[in-house]
Amino acid sequence: MTNLYGCDVEALRGFLARYDLPAFHASQIYAWLYARRRFDPADWSDLPASLRERLQCDAVFDPGKIVARTTATDGTIKYGISPDGGGTIEAVYMHYDDRVTLCVSSQVGCALDCDFCLTGKMGFVRHLSPGEILGQVAQIQNDRGLGERPFNLVFMGMGEPLHNYDAVLAAFRVLVDPRGFGLSRKRITVSTSGLVPAIEQLAAEPRRPRLAVSLNATTDETRERIMPINRKYPLARLLEACREYTTTTGERITFEYVLLDGVNVADDDLERLAEMTRSLAVKVNLIPFNPVPDRLPYRPPSRQRVLQIRDELLRRDVPASIRWSRGTEARAACGQLATEATR
Ligand code: SAH
Ligand code: SF4
Repeated sequence: MTNLYGCDVEALRGFLARYDLPAFHASQIYAWLYARRRFDPADWSDLPASLRERLQCDAVFDPGKIVARTTATDGTIKYGISPDGGGTIEAVYMHYDDRVTLCVSSQVGCALDCDFCLTGKMGFVRHLSPGEILGQVAQIQNDRGLGERPFNLVFMGMGEPLHNYDAVLAAFRVLVDPRGFGLSRKRITVSTSGLVPAIEQLAAEPRRPRLAVSLNATTDETRERIMPINRKYPLARLLEACREYTTTTGERITFEYVLLDGVNVADDDLERLAEMTRSLAVKVNLIPFNPVPDRLPYRPPSRQRVLQIRDELLRRDVPASIRWSRGTEARAACGQLATEATR
């Protein structure tokens, strides 16, 4: 049976019409799925009972199931979610004093094989559908009892979101739809390893999430070593695409920069990083590497050096901040997401 979770109003209308059901109920169903997040037609009290029964027989509305929860001491929760299409993906709930941030996956595994990333070591398994992306959000909202409370959403879980462009954008449209999840566009960030054509495509969208680019190095030599995608889209091309993006959209980009001791944190790197960002509308987010002992041959710099790097950048007028990792001991931090089955 077709899983209709993830369908927009148009697709729901099409389904109802095909089954000779009254298509004008599509927007009510849509509201139950995404605004109210109730997945069983039996609960949809404003629909005629006959329609609810038909829907229960003819369709499924499956956002995926939470199969595991790991809570870290800082309250970060890593969820294992089993999506309708199979496999296990991971999504993370982070609670700060003033806000909640959810981090979701866009693929099972990742094709881009960055050398410092555990998801990359899994290889690519498959793309997630829009419903499998939205299902992670809805299930965590329900599980945490977030109700109508707004939250930030980052596509920084497993996978490269811009490699799964159409599904991610379809999910984005439901997320920002006031009749859907009703999130502000500015609360959603897509992080990419630097797929230049997709960055160009995103700039041309009528509505788009915020963009973060994983820069992670300041020379092609180093970037190629840790991020094979750099062979296809080297730094000069990536930076040009970023410049185009900021001028076309009038929006700032975030450069993510994973700090790898002995690899990309020398004084020369900071000099080049400052140079690269000088005339660009960007801010830099420094991410101390989250070690995965025995699996990844890298270490973060000392805490003192991390602070020094930020201060050096600030001194050069680069807007820089540090993203101290959350959920490290639950392996819920950046680059630590890979499901047990594949380990
Ligand atoms: N594929 C996308 C989004 C997922 S990765 C991308 O690469 O941007 C999200 C962020 O985590 C990226 O900035 C990536 O560089 C970073 N990351 C990956 N592995 C990490 C690790 N072990 N420690 C710290 N950051 C890591
Ligand atoms: Fe994929 Fe991002 Fe990990 Fe690179 S860092 S392997 S692009 S998930």
